[in-house]
Amino acid sequence: MAADSFARRLLAWWDVHGRKNLPWQQERTPYRIWVAEIMLQQTQVGTAAPYFERFVARFPDVEAVARADLDDVLHLWSGLGYYARARNLHRAAGIVVREHGGTLPDTAAALGALPGIGRSTAAAIVAQAHGRRAPILDGNVKRVLARRRRVAGPVSSTATLDELWRLAESHTPQDRAADYTQAVMDLGATVCRRRRPRCGDCPVRTGCLAFAAGDPERYPEAAPRRSRRLERRRFFVLVDPDGACLVERRPPAGIWGGLWSPPERDARETVRGFLDEAGVDAGLVDEIRAAHVFRHGFTHYDLDVEPVYVRLRSRPAAVREDAGRWIDPNDHRLGLSTVAARLVAASLIPAGRVR
Ligand code: SF4
Repeated sequence: MAADSFARRLLAWWDVHGRKNLPWQQERTPYRIWVAEIMLQQTQVGTAAPYFERFVARFPDVEAVARADLDDVLHLWSGLGYYARARNLHRAAGIVVREHGGTLPDTAAALGALPGIGRSTAAAIVAQAHGRRAPILDGNVKRVLARRRRVAGPVSSTATLDELWRLAESHTPQDRAADYTQAVMDLGATVCRRRRPRCGDCPVRTGCLAFAAGDPERYPEAAPRRSRRLERRRFFVLVDPDGACLVERRPPAGIWGGLWSPPERDARETVRGFLDEAGVDAGLVDEIRAAHVFRHGFTHYDLDVEPVYVRLRSRPAAVREDAGRWIDPNDHRLGLSTVAARLVAASLIPAGRVR
């Protein structure tokens, strides 16, 4: 399929203005593109880049990820959020080693059968790692195409997605598949931005219906908003005389699944109730102090985090190794959520100075 004028103008623009020094563009192996695409699913380029560099330095290939403990993978993902991505990456690496001889499959269909790889991510790997035509439809591309044709309807609806996929199919050229894929993502990220798109600098503004109508920010239409709920939970941070904190592994599914965290309990749980449940003798307690509540936002709700620090005179024998681990806040190799890392780091602040 010959490039249409949209693709031609986009590629000409990308040749001059496109991003060409991103870490995953330097050595475009299927593995590196896969890791980058998974990180970029929910994270912007600038944030993802240092995580990507650390990840591929520690795990240079699929086998290294498959061999690793999930804890090591989550540790390198700590702070990046959406941890199901890391769990799926780890699971998928195991499948690639067991069922594909350690080589990532090179078709969109086989890639799409792996955990965490959807239709657009599979296509992005095929296009960028193998240079074959494969239309993508990530968040950036949805925005560009929805504005260009003023595609109405919530972007999450099947009808809207079908229309956007049809447009993506129609514009994707046969040649320069990798460059086109990067170009259309770059346009969405740097020119056709969510807020205040730079239409004056846009290479495809001719033919853009939203530009002509003066209403680009109306597209794509957001899904109807559900009311945002607020939850409150207590986090008990046990600190031993050496400053080590107790963390326990969270269940594999759900928020922060598989990560480690100071014990989280219902907001009505009392200190005494928690210590009894944990098997900590009240005589071991040196000091109890509550720190300021802080709010952490998730996609669909907010969580008020209520920290309770319990300094102990000695480490209780009752806390078994399989129930939790004592970690040095400055030196550990476990995956902690952003909230858990903040709680543990605050244990280092002398009493009375917790902010
Ligand atoms: S003209 Fe504006 S709205 Fe249209 S694609 Fe370009 S940046 Fe987006």
